[in-house]
Amino acid sequence: MREVYLDNSATTKVLPEVVELMSKIMLEDYGNPSSMHTKGMESENYIREATDTVAKILKVNPKEVFYTSCGTESDNTALIGAAHANARCGNHLITTKIEHPAILNTMKQLEEEGFKVTYLNVNDKGVISLDELRDAITDNTILVSIMHVNNEIGSIQPIEKAGELIKSINPNILFHVDAVQSFGKLPIQPKKMYIDMLSISGHKIHGPKGIGVLYINEKVKIKPLILGGGQQNGMRSGTENVPGIAGLALAAKTLCANMAEDTKKLMELKKYFIEGLSDIEDVTVNGCDIVNGSNYGAPHIISVSVRNVRSEVLLHSLEAKGIYVSAGSACSTHKREPSKTLTAIGLDPKLYESTVRFSMSVFTEKEDMDAALEAMKEIIPTLRKYTRQ
Ligand code: PLP
Repeated sequence: MREVYLDNSATTKVLPEVVELMSKIMLEDYGNPSSMHTKGMESENYIREATDTVAKILKVNPKEVFYTSCGTESDNTALIGAAHANARCGNHLITTKIEHPAILNTMKQLEEEGFKVTYLNVNDKGVISLDELRDAITDNTILVSIMHVNNEIGSIQPIEKAGELIKSINPNILFHVDAVQSFGKLPIQPKKMYIDMLSISGHKIHGPKGIGVLYINEKVKIKPLILGGGQQNGMRSGTENVPGIAGLALAAKTLCANMAEDTKKLMELKKYFIEGLSDIEDVTVNGCDIVNGSNYGAPHIISVSVRNVRSEVLLHSLEAKGIYVSAGSACSTHKREPSKTLTAIGLDPKLYESTVRFSMSVFTEKEDMDAALEAMKEIIPTLRKYTRQ
């Protein structure tokens, strides 16, 4: 049976060259980058090279690149670190209703500490309104955090326009972007897009788990969350995860080298899959405007609602055919409450528990999407027969 992995927004397969490099570092070049002997310097060189690579891709200064343990830590550091360091200037924060829990739960904690948070609405395609953002900004606003690509439905936010708007109102307001789902898929340049802080995660880009990047503009003051030996200029103490850092940078470099070509292919596969789904009755795609054909969202995420079929049942029926997908978002399936993203786009509540996410990667082939389509066409009518309507 062909294994069809379509859960790449949850995590991705690590590139073989990344595994090879990481294995060499772990087995041979395992020095502590803080050690003063050659083995330490060797390790430090891996970090320097990786940082140069990441900085070059983002078109930022290497001094502005910091490593964390994951996208979640990058998000936490950006929000808590910036809120605490800038509390003297105001106590108002802005984000959207469809952020990842790494942002929403951090905002919740900041609210408990006394910060006020505005949660922007999104339209039925999962996109914020710049007018609403403009109206939300007050003299007390110190930070705005907006995700680039939504992890459940793949909607893309107008990051550059939002950044320009925020800075035109008050250049001191910090702008953080969660680019965990977009990095390597869509071009993102912090300096050009008015972004002060940007979160990236290694395991979403065919790199290892346990490593993240936080870009912090050198003019931005944030309070570190992790204190200790003062590594990374005191911004994030703890011995650096050298294999993870080198692995992330190599994955990023490999992915970004072919980004335009790869995303074009992914978008074609997305359109092909959506077109194929139109043969099945009562199946809708979330987060894009297919009717007008004007907005297909991010190239790798396809959120599909299947009326009268429970997502968990569909997920396991697809799994029985070797096809791996997510029910909604893998990151929030531990909770029984409805997805905040699906609620925010105004989806029919009957479809909250009937939505699955197909997410592709550079390894996804047309044959994979054919297998998924064929399985959906076979499974859905059968499952509906057994659903009381
Ligand atoms: N932000 C977004 C948009 C995500 O999709 C995820 C993970 O799915 C995260 C943050 C958290 O990243 P990590 O799993 O590296 O903590």
